Amino acid sequence: MAITLSKPLDKVPVIELHGVGQSLADKLAKLSLRTVQDLLFHLPLRYIDRTRITPIGSIRPLTDVVIEGEVRASDIVFGKRRSLMCRVQDGTGTVTLRFFHFSAAQKNNLKPGTRIRCYGEVRRGSSGFEIYHPEYHLFSKGEPAPLEQSLTAIYPATEGLTQQRMRSLANQALAMMTGHNLAELVPEELRPQSDIALADALRYLHQPPVNAPIDLLAAGKHPAQQRLAFEELLTHHLSLLRLRHKIQRHHAPVLETPDKLHGDFLDQLPFELTGAQQRVRDEVCTDLAKPYPMLRLVQGDVGSGKTVVAALAALAAIDAGKQVAVMAPTEILAEQHRNNFESWLKPLGIRLAWLTGKLKGKGREVQLAAIADGSAQIAIGTHALFQDEVQFHDLGLVIIDEQHRFGVHQRLALREKGRGGNVVPHQLIMTATPIPRTLAMSAYADLDCSIIDELPPGRTPVNTVAVANTRRNDVIQRVRDACKEGRQAYWVCTLVEESELLEAQAAEAAADELHMLLPELNIGLIHGRLKPKEKEQVMAEFKSGSIDLLVATTVIEVGVDVPNASLMIIENPERLGLAQLHQLRGRVGRGKIASHCVLLYSTPLSNAGVERLKIMRETNDGFKIAEKDLQLRGPGEVLGTRQTGEMNLRIADLQRDSELLTQIKFSAQKLSSDNPELVPALIQRWLSGSEQFGSV
Ligand code: ADP
Ligand code: MG
Repeated sequence: MAITLSKPLDKVPVIELHGVGQSLADKLAKLSLRTVQDLLFHLPLRYIDRTRITPIGSIRPLTDVVIEGEVRASDIVFGKRRSLMCRVQDGTGTVTLRFFHFSAAQKNNLKPGTRIRCYGEVRRGSSGFEIYHPEYHLFSKGEPAPLEQSLTAIYPATEGLTQQRMRSLANQALAMMTGHNLAELVPEELRPQSDIALADALRYLHQPPVNAPIDLLAAGKHPAQQRLAFEELLTHHLSLLRLRHKIQRHHAPVLETPDKLHGDFLDQLPFELTGAQQRVRDEVCTDLAKPYPMLRLVQGDVGSGKTVVAALAALAAIDAGKQVAVMAPTEILAEQHRNNFESWLKPLGIRLAWLTGKLKGKGREVQLAAIADGSAQIAIGTHALFQDEVQFHDLGLVIIDEQHRFGVHQRLALREKGRGGNVVPHQLIMTATPIPRTLAMSAYADLDCSIIDELPPGRTPVNTVAVANTRRNDVIQRVRDACKEGRQAYWVCTLVEESELLEAQAAEAAADELHMLLPELNIGLIHGRLKPKEKEQVMAEFKSGSIDLLVATTVIEVGVDVPNASLMIIENPERLGLAQLHQLRGRVGRGKIASHCVLLYSTPLSNAGVERLKIMRETNDGFKIAEKDLQLRGPGEVLGTRQTGEMNLRIADLQRDSELLTQIKFSAQKLSSDNPELVPALIQRWLSGSEQFGSV
């Protein structure tokens, strides 16, 4: 036993705990709980107060209570579902315990006259107040069990493991913690000042004392929580930095800036680069000329002109005899890139390949062959570009558009793709969803960041109004007027569910309705269920002006560029996040004419809905909108759930704890240069469950 006590807890397997056999150890392993340290860092989600007994007469629905009384009756009832109902009474009232799953032994034990103490949430049921599946203790008269001495932790719900079991494991783990066997991995001078010791923080959070400030804990602002949140965020940051260092230890082809080719390219463009585009082009070109991989994120609002910058980067690779992959998240956007790059690069004699999931058969083979033998200098497509069957001849640069839809995993897969021996391609990532600074610092610590913070000249800001659906006819009249004047319009249908089919049906219904009400207009329909050829056809007709009104689903969110379209109606905008609305709205305001966006909302609107639409009316600045979106909806929605899902935070919250991030950035850099040996231990402690960083 003495040996176990001094052994570091990350080396003590859970099976050494009392009551843990192989089958429990296996269950725990499924949760990545392998060692005693893992149990200590498996932190409660919330707390309930079981330190005092509530008289049954004063229990209220939707509260967690402890009650104590005598079983008066226990009966099996056959309602919609068979259940065991057990009436419990104290001097002040009665309550019903209800069990939908129960054993014969359980029923026998709950016989009238038995004294019982129960823990659970009160709800209103058919028999008055009820508690479903309470935890309970039975005892004979005169020997009640002692009440809890600390707040009771509720752990993340886990298949086949009861809360009681989790608590008893935590209890044992805490008892083993001696102050010597759990390392403080973050040097004191790198931690925030008002910091508490790691062991104290853990003890506090697993078993907060009776008088603990339960509201502060619920808000995640207790110093013990902040202590651990800091370490967790620091670890994530370190892991991304490590990723970055690992990648940058590889070689990448040195791509000198091709002044001649760039000159030819820019000469044929109908416009001059903006100052911001030039600056970002220079930042990218400086990276490309280095012998290790560029890892750069280019942020720029919709319409800021990221594509040209991407093309300039591509030319640097092509000029050096390397291939380029350009990947977009949707077919439509990939097609748009293909069109742009074709019109810009073909005149320069550059050969393109095209690959999406929908391309099959012979056509696919031809493209694959061109990519593999190097005859295609640039390959454009969707994520189909990095399936195993795609072999590049000599990939030098990967360009990813709209990065927030891809996760860290996909970023890594692409880095792997171009890997020939020790050489990896440069990587340029473009996103039109501005990432609030705090998030960029944490979720994108592995990337350098450039910002195109200037729109091309001659754009008029979109004027946005919110109109209730009860005034739908006025809005339809507006569409009629705009089209009569030779303008074009979008009508966008949104849905709550992310279902391509349902969304397509909603758009079809809207198109039918508008056909009837606006018979003089030529109305087109585009949605995700159309074949690529059909989509292309519709887009071409809209671009050429033969379609006046385009009814669409959110598939037009990105990329589509029709300068004569100056009016956009968005139905049920309250269903979308701000960033997505902003993206959609970016489809208008691309020409010189004043553009309008009508947010056609359903009444009644929630307070949050009112707030969101107000922001859309007030600003056209994507960065402001992203900050607001972050405040209103949290990082999961802003970065995409995939992305934050991968971050898998246990206790920290990117937004709530954002004021920690400045210190974290500093501490992470210092720690990785001064104490690099601590990094693997931190990663093991906080990230062992996510295979995200294991394989790199
Ligand atoms: P995004 O940043 O949203 O990807 P795009 O690259 O699609 O923007 O550019 C939007 C539109 O602006 C395109 O029609 C593009 O040709 C045009 N554009 C890009 N840069 C400039 C510029 N410097 N001056 C004028 N128009 C530009
Ligand atoms: Mg774009």
